[in-house]
Amino acid sequence: AKLAGRNRFCFFTSRMNEEAEARLRMEGELRRAVGTDQFHLAYQPLVDVKSGRAVGVEALLRWSNPELGNVPPDRFIPQAETCGVIVAIGRMVLETACRDARRWVDAGHADLRLCINVSPRQFQDAGFLGHVRAALAASGLSPANLELEITEGLLLTERGDVDVLLRALTDMGIQLSIDDFGTGYSSLSYLERFPFDTLKIDRSFMIGMLERQERKVLVETIVAMASGLGLKVIAEGVETVEQLAHLTAINCDIAQGYLFSRPVPATEIPPLLERVYR
Ligand code: C2E
Ligand code: CA
Ligand code: CA
Ligand code: CA
Repeated sequence: AKLAGRNRFCFFTSRMNEEAEARLRMEGELRRAVGTDQFHLAYQPLVDVKSGRAVGVEALLRWSNPELGNVPPDRFIPQAETCGVIVAIGRMVLETACRDARRWVDAGHADLRLCINVSPRQFQDAGFLGHVRAALAASGLSPANLELEITEGLLLTERGDVDVLLRALTDMGIQLSIDDFGTGYSSLSYLERFPFDTLKIDRSFMIGMLERQERKVLVETIVAMASGLGLKVIAEGVETVEQLAHLTAINCDIAQGYLFSRPVPATEIPPLLERVYR
C-alpha cells in the first residue's frame, strides 16, 4: 500500500511537471510567435433575425504554430493572458481587424459592426486606449463601426477606473457589449452601472434550450430584460433552425452560430455580407 501511495505521488508530480513544461513551452512559442504570420483572424457573421442579413462580424483569433499545430483559442488565450503576451497579440488583432473591416465598409456595408474580444489583461494595460485609437486611425475605420466585447471578469479587475475607461471608449463612439452573459459571476447591477449597448447570451444557453423548460425561460427572460434596458441582444451558438425560430418568436435581435456560418477567413466574408439567411 505504501508503495502504491508512493507511485501515485510520483505519478502526480510527473503529471504536474509535464503540465508545467507544456505551459512553459507554449509560453515560449507564444512569445516567439508575436510579429510572425502564425496568427490570423477568422470572422463569423452576426445575423439580424428579422431581415436575415449579416449586420456585423466577430473577429476570432487563430494560432497555427509549426511545433504545436493549430492551437484552439480556449487553450492559448488564457496562457497568453497569464504571461502578458496577450497585450501584443490583442494589439495586432485590433489593427488587422479594423483594416479588414474598413474594406468591407468601403465596399458598401456602411453600418457593418466589427466585434473584437478584449481580454482583462489587455484592458488593464496602460496602453490599451492608445492601441484602440491607433488601430482606428491607421485603418480609417469609424469608431461607430467598432464594438468591443468585454467579459464580466474584466469588470472585476483591479483597475479602479474601469468606469472611466469604458466611458472614454463610449465617448469616442465605440460600442460595448457584455460577452458570455449568464456565465461566471453575472451581476445584474453591471448592466445598470456600465455603458453597454449589447448583451451576448452565452452559447451554453442554446444547448438544450428547446428541451429544457428552465433554460427556455432563462433565455426568454434575458432577452426581455435586455430589451427593456434598451440593449441589443445577440444569441451565440445558434446551430439549428428550431433554435432560430424560438429566438425569433421571443424577439431576440441578432443571432450568431454555425447555422449561418462557421468563422471563416477574411477573404470569404464579402459574399456572406451579401446573402440573406432564410
Ligand atoms: P467567444 O468570444 O465566446 O467566441 C465565440 C466562440 O464560439 C468562438 O470559438 C466560435 O467559433 C464559437 N462558436 C460560434 N458559433 C458556434 C456554434 O454554433 N456552435 C459552437 N459549438 N461554437 C460556436 P473560438 O473561435 O474557438 O474562440 C473561443 C474563445 O476564445 C472566444 O469565445 C473568446 O473568449 C476567445 N477569443 C477568440 N479570439 C479572441 C481574441 O482575439 N482576443 C481575445 N481576448 N479572446 C479571443
Ligand atoms: Ca466574443
Ligand atoms: Ca461569447
Ligand atoms: Ca464563450
